[in-house]
Amino acid sequence: MRLTENARKVLEKRYLARDEDGRVCETPEDMFRRVAATVASADKDRLSEKELKKLEEEFYDMMVNLEFLPNSPTLMNAGRPLGQLSACFVLPVEDTMEGIFDSVKNAALIHKSGGGTGFSFSRLRPKGSSVKSTGGVASGPVSFMKVFNAATEAVKQGGTRRGANMGILRVDHPDILEFITCKQNNADITNFNISVAITESFMKAVEQNADYDLIDPRTGKKTGSLNAREVFDLMVNMAWKNGEPGIIFLDRINRDNVTPQLGEIESTNPCGEQPLLPYEACNLGSINLSLMVKRGRDNIMEVDYDKLRETVRKAVRFLDNVIDVNKYPLPEIDEMTRGTRKIGLGVMGWADMLLILGIRYDSEEAEKLADEVMGFISREARRMSQELAEEKGVFPYYDKSVYKEAGIKVRNATTTTIAPTGTLSLIAGTSSGIEPLFAISYIKYVMDGTELVEVNPYFKAACEEAGLYSDELMREIAQKGSLHDVEGIPQHMKELFVTAHDISPEWHVRMQAAFQRHTDNAVSKTVNLRKDATLQDVADVFWHAYKTGCKGVTIYRDGSREEQVLNIGSVK
Ligand code: ADP
Repeated sequence: MRLTENARKVLEKRYLARDEDGRVCETPEDMFRRVAATVASADKDRLSEKELKKLEEEFYDMMVNLEFLPNSPTLMNAGRPLGQLSACFVLPVEDTMEGIFDSVKNAALIHKSGGGTGFSFSRLRPKGSSVKSTGGVASGPVSFMKVFNAATEAVKQGGTRRGANMGILRVDHPDILEFITCKQNNADITNFNISVAITESFMKAVEQNADYDLIDPRTGKKTGSLNAREVFDLMVNMAWKNGEPGIIFLDRINRDNVTPQLGEIESTNPCGEQPLLPYEACNLGSINLSLMVKRGRDNIMEVDYDKLRETVRKAVRFLDNVIDVNKYPLPEIDEMTRGTRKIGLGVMGWADMLLILGIRYDSEEAEKLADEVMGFISREARRMSQELAEEKGVFPYYDKSVYKEAGIKVRNATTTTIAPTGTLSLIAGTSSGIEPLFAISYIKYVMDGTELVEVNPYFKAACEEAGLYSDELMREIAQKGSLHDVEGIPQHMKELFVTAHDISPEWHVRMQAAFQRHTDNAVSKTVNLRKDATLQDVADVFWHAYKTGCKGVTIYRDGSREEQVLNIGSVK
């Protein structure tokens, strides 16, 4: 198997099975075998032994070739005692003591199994409201978020990965100002990403510089009003300071809710790409686009649509099977998740694919290709879900869905989602999700103090071909973070190899919007801004995302948090 050194390390540390003494007892190949066999076993009553083996081989091949990978919990837990295979969950938070603490407990069970949880705190009565049974006053959504945060912190120690949460509050909740500023101090609520749920009427009020009403969720009554533009500016300000809050467009998300009779969508999963109903879970998987290419006529690289089609079809069958073999942490989740059978097929390696094809990330050509490639994936995925419906039946809540009215039989309420692929892309050795390259090369410090220069493989190949490659040059590029001011690099290479910070905020959003046009659920994307970006740049990103049909947006300004995950120049 072709795995990078980093990929092997990650797999050994967290993914590969261990024996009773804690020693790793499987190889990466064994892991993919375990996953393939477990996922294929969903069909054991339908298929002959020979057919079942063939299906297992198909699943195994696409994983071991790194063409498709399911989300981390599937790799970690399939065929093992936990058996919990989904990355994304949304839990309800009711406005009662029992409801709140049930949710804390349920989140802990999910975190233990490697899943991430999203919550809307919008149903909680505002701070200072009365508590009937005790005569006291309620402490409000933000104080309860701190309880969830502390529980997550404790579970971190024992689980497969550190728990991740999304906290959402509607923009018309009376505690909205406290929520927007609740992560002002980086040390607070560290186990949460936060997003404000924005409504169309709020955006209109911002445009008109008007006031809007705040509503107590318990009584449905107006408690006051705020100037929409001031609230918008506060969000922009906080996001500029340290990347939070993000925003989600709640009305838009609910316009795409395919089962409105089952309830309203209030929240997404932790990284924002998967809006879900309360108690719904979703399993994701990503196709490695950097491997969906071939040498075409005149020796020119092109998208291999036949291979892509085959991979999409196998991946949809795989993800649909995961729903059946999954062990859900709660009966309510079992019921909802098997009821709607949502899956989220997406992509990774988009930036790498563009490099292979010689297309610059921030170009109309790339935007057009995004429409083409994701449009293709989405059509093929939907078609496969229709075929599965004929083979195995529609999803159980089909009668409560918009598909019934439309007369379209599908097996899955949704089929496409673009995940961040934080670890998956590392395992596959490709660029993450639909993000541009973060750096062309960077310096890595290894435990024993030695320095290694890591170089993007396509850039390395291009340099070698041009006879330019040298360690010093790669170091210089790592220090500068971009090819912009590096001497000796030909112009055509400077134009192709752009990084996140070379790309304008507008182009980041355009790319997100292009993928969103062909994605049932949402798209995970961080609009990475340069350190010198202004408040106006952040405001423009929010507007642009709103105007171009994105379901939400997250920004991050370089250097704005003291403890940054990725650093230009060095990674320690
Ligand atoms: P991976 O590459 O590990 O499969 P992604 O980076 O694509 O994961 O994230 C997909 C989703 O997985 C996230 O939106 C979130 O729901 C969940 N997730 C990611 N990281 C964590 C974590 N540390 N703990 C719990 N859930 C997580």
